[in-house]
Amino acid sequence: MTSPAHDPAWVRGTMTAVAVTSPKSVETVEIPIPGPLAGHALVRVSYAGLCGTDLELLHGTASYVLDGRTRYPHVVGHEWSGTVVTAPGTGLAAGQRVVGQTMVPCGGCAHCRGGRRGLCPHMREVGLYGLQGAAAQYVRVPASSLVPVPDTVDARSAALVEPAVTVVEAFRRAGCLPTDRVAVVGTGTIGLLAVQLAAHLAQHVDAVGVDAPALELATGLGARRGLLPGQADPSAYSLVVEASGASAGFARALELVEPGGRVAAVGVTHEPVPQVDAARITLDGISVLGIRHGLDHYDETLGLFARGVLRAAPLIHAELPAAEARQAFRTLETGRGARPKILLSFDAADAADAADAREAEEAHVR
Ligand SMILES: [Zn+2]
Ligand SMILES: [Zn+2]
Repeated sequence: MTSPAHDPAWVRGTMTAVAVTSPKSVETVEIPIPGPLAGHALVRVSYAGLCGTDLELLHGTASYVLDGRTRYPHVVGHEWSGTVVTAPGTGLAAGQRVVGQTMVPCGGCAHCRGGRRGLCPHMREVGLYGLQGAAAQYVRVPASSLVPVPDTVDARSAALVEPAVTVVEAFRRAGCLPTDRVAVVGTGTIGLLAVQLAAHLAQHVDAVGVDAPALELATGLGARRGLLPGQADPSAYSLVVEASGASAGFARALELVEPGGRVAAVGVTHEPVPQVDAARITLDGISVLGIRHGLDHYDETLGLFARGVLRAAPLIHAELPAAEARQAFRTLETGRGARPKILLSFDAADAADAADAREAEEAHVR
């Protein structure tokens, strides 16, 4: 077995990365390529997706920043895909296309050994806290946190697997049935993935949101109707997925669910939710499920993309090279339009065929 330290395939030198260097400041920087480490792989990154959490890291409002787990400069990138360069002694082959799990649990504590590794108290998360992010030409991650990507899933779709695993967890926890009437509140990446999965699993799904063009996009992805908040009937849904991350969205979800129904809370709001009617939760027997993440659903989620149940292309607003990271964050914050996802590309070859792939996909959507 090659010792990682003497692995000639492990690329040395410096690389381009995207870092939040101080609150409100994001830059493309040149940093050392992480060195060899036992049990780890060096991965050449194809795409890193940006989401609301990256904006919170930029503004210094993320819980990881507030409690000191994340310090600047901080290389972002927790939704990503790439290709293994080398992974000595791990069983992963060079050239293997992979998606990286964000959460890296310790593997040794009672939670990890008891089948609840998503709750590991020693957790580190790639690009969030404890581990360098994947918005870089290369990322070094434990081989056990990499999941092989089948040939039928392209690198852009693979970068959306991370948000999608949480959606899969939501429908699993809620025990979604074909007879369910589903409402999805929120039309961001999570919401639009939830609409697609709900349309596959249940007879009826409505999208509820505040953005008319995004609601229209939701109907193109399988929602029967796209409804503004005042248009959705109270107590009309057996399963409501809260994907807005707004306190008003959480209150709305509780209003829309029927007696005996379930609310799967995926969006995170740090605001108080003053409108909660706790008596209604009790007396109407409503289940409110907190959906933390879907660490155990990466393979299943890749399968959903492979079968076309989940589609990434209609969700992608723009792909920008790493050098335009500042513009990417600006677009994420102010000008996305209906499509919620911004990708940073780190591999020129991927970016070139992405344009062709997108044209093909758009022809398929229409
Ligand atoms: Zn994210
Ligand atoms: Zn653990």
